Amino acid sequence: MASNPASTAAHGWNHAQANCALGDITIDRVVDMERLAYSAKMMLPTADEAELRRLAAEMGPRIIDPVTMSVSLSFHAYVVRTPKHTILVDTCCGNDKERPQRVDWHRRDGPFLNNLRARGVEPEDIDFVMCTHLHADHVGWNTKLVDGKWVPTFPNAQYLFAEVEYRHWIQQQAESDEPIMHGSHADSVLPVMDSGQAKLVAVDHEIETGIYFQPAFGHTPGTIVLHVDSQDAQAVLCGDVMHHPAQVVHPEWSSAFCADPIQSAKSRRELLERVAGTGTLVLPAHFLAPYYGPVERDGDGFRTVI
Ligand SMILES: [Zn+2]
Repeated sequence: MASNPASTAAHGWNHAQANCALGDITIDRVVDMERLAYSAKMMLPTADEAELRRLAAEMGPRIIDPVTMSVSLSFHAYVVRTPKHTILVDTCCGNDKERPQRVDWHRRDGPFLNNLRARGVEPEDIDFVMCTHLHADHVGWNTKLVDGKWVPTFPNAQYLFAEVEYRHWIQQQAESDEPIMHGSHADSVLPVMDSGQAKLVAVDHEIETGIYFQPAFGHTPGTIVLHVDSQDAQAVLCGDVMHHPAQVVHPEWSSAFCADPIQSAKSRRELLERVAGTGTLVLPAHFLAPYYGPVERDGDGFRTVI
């Protein structure tokens, strides 16, 4: 399938600046943690090792380390600025959170808000926060610690949660004696609900014309992606529908953190098929540069056009 060189050239991801412009809309990547390495066996349990080694040679050790057989993930948010709204997508791990089972996320003192300010965005400027799903590494900056209490980090924002996702985790918590999701449900989701700043919405909710959600269930029961359509250029901010560039090549490799690995693989392939060859920028929550960009078909799988 032919790609659209005019579209990708005019609206490509700028790796030096970690942003892009789609018509009158801009998207910036805001880093919480730049790079953490995880065992490939743990992260992608069904991945074929020989094929991973082939991909390591192609992608380089920063993406797949052939010595340790580890895959690297970034933890970042995106800021979408339209002429009408400033939208923060996925809020990473946050600061000061108690995450004793995740040492890299535990009691952090990271520069995320300064990284946001460096993009010209103050917390007060955010109109909407959306989380593709409610795992701990996508809700962390929803709240910050003030005088021992968790309060919304973005005082003027409406937080949009997919109702099906929110209800799922409420049910999970009701059935559990322990705090779920490393405590993030209690410290990063419920305080936002209590503040009155949250709104539960449908999985196809539209924030404004051309900026809309689409369901991509599987990683969690209510995972959604955000489409950004501007004039002739598009992007899809797809959270954890894929965690690592190896899954673009092999959409059948679901992560160990997918609630329903089969449905997750189906949603991943559907999304890639939908955007392949269209010039749509694929912007996942955990990819490292240079794997932000359009994709095209390649055999049974796909590849990122770099
Ligand atoms: Zn994640």
